[in-house]
Amino acid sequence: MASRSLSPSLTPCLWITVSVVCVCLQLLCGHVACGDAQNAREVILLDSKAQQTDLEWISYPPNGWEEISGLDENYTPIRTYQVCQVMEPNQNNWLRTNWIEKGDAQRIFVELKFTLRDCNSLPGVVGTCKETFNLYYQETDSEVGRSLRENQYVKIDTIAADESFTQGDLGERKMKLNTEERIIGPLSRRGFYLAFQDVGACIALVSVKVYYKKCWSIIENLATFPDTVTGSEFSSLVEVEGVCVSDAEEEADNSPKMHCSAQGEWLVPIGKCICKAGFHQKGDSCEPCGRGFYKSSSQDLQCSRCPAHSFNDLEGSWRCDCEDGYYRAFSDPPSVACTRPPSAPQNLVYNINQTSVSLEWNPPADTGGRNDVTYRVICRRCTWEPEECVPCGPNVGFSPAQSGLVDTFVTMMDLLAHANYTFEVEAVNGVSDLSRTQRLFAAVSIATGQAGKSFSSVESQSIIQLSWQEPQQPNGVITEYEIKYYEKDQKDRVYSTVRSKSTSATVNNLKPSTAYVFQIRAFTEAGYGTYCPRLEITTKEEATGRMQNPVIIIAVVAVAGTIILVFMVFGFIIGRRYALAVKFPGTKTYIDPETYEDPNRAVHQFAKELDASCIKIERVIGAGEFGEVCSGRLKLPGKREVSVAIKTLKVGYTEKQRRDFLCEASIMGQFDHPNVVHLEGVVTRGKPVMIVIEYMENGSLDSFLRKHDGQFTVIQLVGMLRGIAAGMRYLSDMGYVHRDLAARNILVNSNLVCKVSDFGLSRVIDDDPEAVYTTTGGKIPVRWTAPEAIQFRKFTSASDVWSYGIVMWEVMSYGERPYWDMSNQDVIKAIEEGYRLPAPMDCPPGLHQLMLDCWQKDRAERPKFDQIVGILDKMIRNPNTLKTPVGTCTRPISPLLDQSTPDFTTFRSVGEWLEAIKMERYRDNFTAAGYGSLESVARMSIEDVMSLGISLVGHQKKIMSSIQTARAQMLHLHGTGIQV
Ligand code: AMP
Repeated sequence: MASRSLSPSLTPCLWITVSVVCVCLQLLCGHVACGDAQNAREVILLDSKAQQTDLEWISYPPNGWEEISGLDENYTPIRTYQVCQVMEPNQNNWLRTNWIEKGDAQRIFVELKFTLRDCNSLPGVVGTCKETFNLYYQETDSEVGRSLRENQYVKIDTIAADESFTQGDLGERKMKLNTEERIIGPLSRRGFYLAFQDVGACIALVSVKVYYKKCWSIIENLATFPDTVTGSEFSSLVEVEGVCVSDAEEEADNSPKMHCSAQGEWLVPIGKCICKAGFHQKGDSCEPCGRGFYKSSSQDLQCSRCPAHSFNDLEGSWRCDCEDGYYRAFSDPPSVACTRPPSAPQNLVYNINQTSVSLEWNPPADTGGRNDVTYRVICRRCTWEPEECVPCGPNVGFSPAQSGLVDTFVTMMDLLAHANYTFEVEAVNGVSDLSRTQRLFAAVSIATGQAGKSFSSVESQSIIQLSWQEPQQPNGVITEYEIKYYEKDQKDRVYSTVRSKSTSATVNNLKPSTAYVFQIRAFTEAGYGTYCPRLEITTKEEATGRMQNPVIIIAVVAVAGTIILVFMVFGFIIGRRYALAVKFPGTKTYIDPETYEDPNRAVHQFAKELDASCIKIERVIGAGEFGEVCSGRLKLPGKREVSVAIKTLKVGYTEKQRRDFLCEASIMGQFDHPNVVHLEGVVTRGKPVMIVIEYMENGSLDSFLRKHDGQFTVIQLVGMLRGIAAGMRYLSDMGYVHRDLAARNILVNSNLVCKVSDFGLSRVIDDDPEAVYTTTGGKIPVRWTAPEAIQFRKFTSASDVWSYGIVMWEVMSYGERPYWDMSNQDVIKAIEEGYRLPAPMDCPPGLHQLMLDCWQKDRAERPKFDQIVGILDKMIRNPNTLKTPVGTCTRPISPLLDQSTPDFTTFRSVGEWLEAIKMERYRDNFTAAGYGSLESVARMSIEDVMSLGISLVGHQKKIMSSIQTARAQMLHLHGTGIQV
């Protein structure tokens, strides 16, 4: 009985009451530190802590769970439940909450805070005391009364404490509050109960919080997105259509959407609203344009001041009205000034030749503010006395025309001889017909059959027309030519340029009698070429006295153009960063997008612009360097729907980030191979900026292999390796050096096809978590990188072959980390000393030999990707070569092993080893510190060596360098079953 006085029903109550007070302190602190950002997304359905009156949950049987009051540090009462029936076997104590209405929720979060006592600290409870409890729920459409039927509950989980506490009497300091969260759902009924089943533990349930997550209403891109409950699955995104704020409208084909994530965050905004005509954006709303301002289209960002000769008195105007006497032609946009008809033509002169009359005049002094002035001629024949005039009628011919004259001359033919005519020349413009003011014209009266005045001289424009032939072998489709020209004798050479999409161009506004120098160059997908040699042309003399034709010179530069443009192609290739100096027949050459002045141009050269409305984003599948990576569907018109991965550029990016992000698309878009991930296109006109790639269902190769450890046949693994090698052969043939080939950068689809991915110029530097800074200053994924690339940044296809060897090792070891937990420095040193990774378990010797060949120090000795594909093909055709000899050591004799280094494995004891390195004086230090075996020595760090009392730096170094050698030797034997 004495032992019974341990009083299981009393003692726990004491400590639980104490614990509640202490725990509440923690709770409050935790609450403040947690911040509001996360809580703001939560809709709380139940929070036992917030309730200060009795919770009145159902407890069954009555001597099980007990409702207890506690106080927090502010003496605010809180309600808790406790149970501690640890002495009696077969406990089955239930506690059920009140009914919880779930509202819109589909996924419910249950957060439990509790303390749990360690059974070891309760003497005499062995076999009866438990350290877990069970959490259940029951879905119902309404409350079901206070009876409790166990079989109606669905188990959520068994809950165990991360930290139980041990010492009741020392009390509070040892007590640990546990927080556990479970998610239930999708739920279909209107509400539910939670239940806690105790089977003999000592628990204080300090708080129960039940909530769900919501994306709270926000305004983004002038669209309002309503409160949205998160989806029913952990990774699903809920697509939400936005509603434009007042006085805004949806941008054409770009309706606003956002995605509500399971965490209650808004992600991936697409499309937008824009302020309607007459309104401009201010913060998250649209405001009317002020008086004297207008905005003619929703596409315009800002309201503009009324243009010249116009005004408005109202707010929110989409245009301004014209002042009196000024007009707007029907085709005039609201942004141009109001104009008026022109004044009369000036200096009208004529010339009579028999029955023809030529007229010539100068333009009007006032064009009315327009540049669409043309001329029309009214012809009237008049009697001599009295002068009465009638229209000339259809028999008179006008050359070039009677109206719509652009030039300032006209000839009338087939006039009657010895007749009197009046000609009125009127200047008209786009608003002449709108004006009701009097017509203004110049007029002459002429009698035919008499000699007239000669024409005055007229200023002529000088024009040169050039034409040339397309080069015979351009290195791509020529999209444009650029013609540069300048006055030959001008000291400070001012260049002008014109562009032409065809092989001819007209150059206007040249000075007469002036020598000009012309140069032409072509633009292809590869960028601009070099200019062809200079072509010198002198314009004709300025003519006097008579009207003059424009100077037209057809300069045929066909031969020069052909040769030079072909040169341009080669000049371009040589200048390329990764490109080959020699082009392989039938293979495209990779073009470095950085050589483009305008990165947008590079993207659109290589990647198709997709309409965002063709893309449906479904879920977030990863985090990229620039934003979320999502999966979704792409449906292009006339094509079947395909699954895609969508990389998004996060909002608020810098121009450089946008450039770097799209760079990957500019690179990927140049490739077309079944073992290189395929780019579907990009969305650059609209937000977010997206890169759309074929969907690779099994994600990255390293994690895929780790997930399926040991599950593939050797042939399957070699098939994967063959695919990667074929993709790399294609890339190296194009002159592309990957620099970051690793299993994490290979993607796997549902058919186990492996494809090379992760392209980008700066990706190795910025993106790869494996990349570390080396002494040469660059950031490099050391374990995957060839020594010459680490030491002097010599990245070539041969260094990619080294990385490929590491990928082979990763694949054959199912995603093992190369060189395990050795430090990067040790890896570099071991490689330098000639050591190489041993064959992974069950790896056929032929494959390991191929790895070792890829890791030849001399890069010229490494196989080419073409050879690697050939070797792997042979293995696949002859599966016998892939058999691993059973029961034998799988380590092949490596030609690369540095055999001259003393072999640690040959020493039988620590003493012998110390003798060999002439450090036997420290034998006792090693023994005293417990380093009795060579294996324990091999694990020593420099600190361990120093702690032995070895203070001479030279000796420390000597011992450490021998230990590192030993480690590398052991590494070489790792996985072979040989004990060191
Ligand atoms: P990245 O920015 O390329 O490193 O991509 C980040 C993560 O998104 C990767 O680790 C993959 O898990 C995933 N991912 C990227 N591209 C694809 C794709 N085409 N198909 C499937 N998952 C992908």
